Amino acid sequence: MFDSHTHSNFSGDSEMCAEAACEAAIMQGLKGIAFTDHLDYDFPEFDEAFLIDFDKYSKFMDDLISKYKNKLTVLKGIEVGIQPHVIEDTAKTVEKYDFDFVIASVHIIDRLDPYRGAFYEGKTREQAFIRYLEEILYCVSAYENYDVVGHIGYIRRYGNLDDRTLTHSEFSDVIDSILKKVIHDGKGIEINTSGYRSLGTPIPDYDIVKRYKELGGEIITIGSDAHASEHIGYNFDLVKANLLELGFKYTTHFERRKPVFDKIEK
Ligand SMILES: [Zn+2]
Ligand SMILES: [Zn+2]
Repeated sequence: MFDSHTHSNFSGDSEMCAEAACEAAIMQGLKGIAFTDHLDYDFPEFDEAFLIDFDKYSKFMDDLISKYKNKLTVLKGIEVGIQPHVIEDTAKTVEKYDFDFVIASVHIIDRLDPYRGAFYEGKTREQAFIRYLEEILYCVSAYENYDVVGHIGYIRRYGNLDDRTLTHSEFSDVIDSILKKVIHDGKGIEINTSGYRSLGTPIPDYDIVKRYKELGGEIITIGSDAHASEHIGYNFDLVKANLLELGFKYTTHFERRKPVFDKIEK
């Protein structure tokens, strides 16, 4: 399996050394790892924290790829934080480098960071989740240069909520619209296992993954969203078992922006 979502210390919020991550991936018996460091233009209150010197990043990753050539497939990816007004600048940066893999994520909605709570002010849980999902729908409609949508349901990690579930049955219209658009455009979704670390379920949860399959979705990447090497490959065995149960036979990783399908071994 491949861990298709990790952050090295190029990302402002990670201290993880990329070599340590590669060693952890080898220890976990993974076939490969994609580094997907952050590009979030106009991240409120952080200014430069989520902007990277991509010339340096690209060169560093090329060297790492050669260094691990016979031991582990290392992939040069990026996680772009999409907001409507940064789409053009984001696309320009993505086009400029030879990334293997691009995750498009919504971290900021209406210029508010759910992590900081202001986004939830004056909204019920349902209103907050709907607004977040509508923003994902807008972004997958307006932004094309990506391979998978990151962590659908990310905002349930934050806010002062008693109920942190984000189920397909509760938000079926907007979730179906997102999934249909993704499938129609030949893109995919990810299962982000960071949810297991704080919520007990992955992001998105399996009911949404099940719906994705029902609608014809096949491209699915698995990522730990590790910011520390002990989280590389986190709970991947559990994801594997659940995907087999849902009828998936393959997971996906991306090389040079093309999906490569990996048979799920029992
Ligand atoms: Zn993210
Ligand atoms: Zn991430």
